[in-house]
Amino acid sequence: MDRSFRLQIAARLADLEAASRRRSLTVTAPDGGGVRRVTRNGQPLINFSSNDYLGLAHHPALAAAAARAAADHGTGATASRLVSGTLPLHDALESRLAALKGSGAALVMAGGFATNASVLAALLDADIAGKAPLVFMDRLAHASMHDGVIGAGVRQIRYHHNDLAHLETLLSRHADAPGPRLIVTESVFSMDGDRADLPGLCALAEKYGAELYVDEAHATGVLGPQGAGLCADPAVKGRVGMVMGTFGKALGGYGAFVACDALLRDWLVTKARGFIYATALPPPVLGAVLAALDLIPQMEAARQRLTAHADTVRGVLHGLGIDTLTSDTQIIPAVIGAEADTLAAARFMEQRGLLTVAIRPPTVPPGSGRLRLALSAAHTPEDIAALTDAFTAFARAGA
Ligand code: PMP
Repeated sequence: MDRSFRLQIAARLADLEAASRRRSLTVTAPDGGGVRRVTRNGQPLINFSSNDYLGLAHHPALAAAAARAAADHGTGATASRLVSGTLPLHDALESRLAALKGSGAALVMAGGFATNASVLAALLDADIAGKAPLVFMDRLAHASMHDGVIGAGVRQIRYHHNDLAHLETLLSRHADAPGPRLIVTESVFSMDGDRADLPGLCALAEKYGAELYVDEAHATGVLGPQGAGLCADPAVKGRVGMVMGTFGKALGGYGAFVACDALLRDWLVTKARGFIYATALPPPVLGAVLAALDLIPQMEAARQRLTAHADTVRGVLHGLGIDTLTSDTQIIPAVIGAEADTLAAARFMEQRGLLTVAIRPPTVPPGSGRLRLALSAAHTPEDIAALTDAFTAFARAGA
């Protein structure tokens, strides 16, 4: 054991603690089988910090499909996809996703983080992208996409969040540079809950001959026609070269996919390290995700309920003078500001029986600590009223 190494780590953790930036885990136990009710540290709470936007993670049809898949195919895939881990369920799921996205092909793999990191690294591989690919990335794009670009050893050019005029300035500044161009964004931003201007991004990608990569982690199942994501909107369908989505949020499972054409899929199968060197997604997860895809197109009432919840919460927060940035989805940042204040706000909510986890730098920019409210169609009007009442009490206490 290297004692001085451990002492250094302990000192660094103490520094982070002093800056309210140390992270720690808390067991959150489902309480009653739904997304809404959990127990933490013995306290029952209504959960406003889960990405189970449609309440599918506890849906009996998904649980039954997972159990069936385990019984029929085993609990684990037992090998990586390229060895012997490509099961009929992977094939079925990829065909479903390709049809849903109209992309021609799809590839599923473990976790959205691993997918973004390894797909982007493979696309920027020097074998095809040469030495100087240009990556234009929204400043607020998820850490996994940054890691993919860093993994390829490529410098990224960041544009101001959702600022297409800035993006165009940067694209035109580099118009004569050799090498492929990639524009990278989320369709719904995970921490701000706002949307990218996809038609505008498609137009810029077309004008400057760039490939467009869109992360639909928070839109899949929730937004777009029949919950198929914002890239399925008629204005942009077929114009986005690569669409990525996760199964761990509205689909109530785990894992991720990328929908693209067959040529790009072939490249990823050959080059994406997070795909090649990882055990394939396990059958129960695949069974549950397939069951979720059966349900999602028919869940229009749930999607409308979710939109109504979000409108109600935003309306109350605005009335209280609480900034929600440009959120217009089920993700609502209640911006508090300083890190210690954000933690205090989360404690205030918790004392009132609400779980609204504090999100702090470096996950969000300095000074923009927030309670990230993630609403679900499974929340009841009473849950939403409990949330808005607690914010009203919070605003009064601060006044
Ligand atoms: N992309 C975005 C935008 C996300 O918010 C997340 C999850 N935090 C991921 C990718 C990673 O997905 P997963 O949780 O499936 O690893």
